[in-house]
Amino acid sequence: MTKRLWSFSIVCLLVTSCGAPLTKPYQDQSSAQHSTPNVTQTSMEASRDFAESPFPTEGSNHLSMLPPASMPSSSALPIAPTRAPSHTHAPSPTSTPSLNLKPKSNPKRSVAQPEASKRPSLPVQKNQGQVRISQKKLTLSQLVVKYPETFKLRGSSQEKKVALTFDDGPDTRFTPKVLDALKANQVKATFFVLGAMANTHPDVIKRIVNEGHVIGNHSYSHENLPKLSVDKFQNQIESTETILQNLIGYAPRLIRPPYGAINEDQVKWIANHHYLIVNWNVDSLDWKSLSSDQVLHNILQQTKPGSIILQHSGGADSQDLSGTVQAIGPLITKLKAAGYTFVTVPELLHVTKSK
Ligand SMILES: [Zn+2]
Repeated sequence: MTKRLWSFSIVCLLVTSCGAPLTKPYQDQSSAQHSTPNVTQTSMEASRDFAESPFPTEGSNHLSMLPPASMPSSSALPIAPTRAPSHTHAPSPTSTPSLNLKPKSNPKRSVAQPEASKRPSLPVQKNQGQVRISQKKLTLSQLVVKYPETFKLRGSSQEKKVALTFDDGPDTRFTPKVLDALKANQVKATFFVLGAMANTHPDVIKRIVNEGHVIGNHSYSHENLPKLSVDKFQNQIESTETILQNLIGYAPRLIRPPYGAINEDQVKWIANHHYLIVNWNVDSLDWKSLSSDQVLHNILQQTKPGSIILQHSGGADSQDLSGTVQAIGPLITKLKAAGYTFVTVPELLHVTKSK
């Protein structure tokens, strides 16, 4: 019996899953990314797109687990000051909105370091197993390359068209002003809205649609999707879809994950359910309460044919999106003068707005 136990222990040491630190794959991931052998032109472009989007506090080598530029939207994006952000709130169409808009730290990295350093040397086989695991966790850039039909950052560079997108609404503070500015300039945009906010401000959702804009699904309560269980992830998408369908008459095909963050299993689920993931390749950084000049500068500096431009129409009470609103007119004037036309995301990508 004792001998059998010893044999089991030895086998255990040699098998990857036994006692393998859960955090290690994340550490390996960045190095795996840097040594990716088959870098195609497309993958290089994808990497560049993400690199162009500043990642607030983390390095760009942790793309798969860090909030991309949109994190701002969210990081700084608290919506209801009287409601404490909830990490455990199970979203449902009828529940009170409790949005998880707190800035995200990098818990995985901070946990991974000490955890790994405490471990004794591991058998070679074990390390090899971990490398295999890490290679399965693709970065966002790699996911874009692997699922080009599902994961979009921009439209065709052959057409001088751009799409304005506004996240984290609807609210009654800035979204109506954004709509006023778009109407004054006769431009249609795409709004990635939160289910919880749509529940709270249904009239604003209806105004968005009545004025010819397109609605996309930005989850129910702005959770970091890769951290969620399968059920909670699907609930974030489906509960929002139900709310929106009842308000606007169609189930949006476009999904923008909070922080732009998503994992491969979730991408597969989205692909199987005929949605599209739409991130961006131009980040205004407007969530930082920038002046209109700064917002304008950030956008004009990065915009090229086919760009999808990230801005916000909602945020925390502490956030001032006046710069976003004031920049809309000059931005449209300048880009039109440069020969650009403004289209919605479905028009830019030549897809339907509904599922
Ligand atoms: Zn957001």
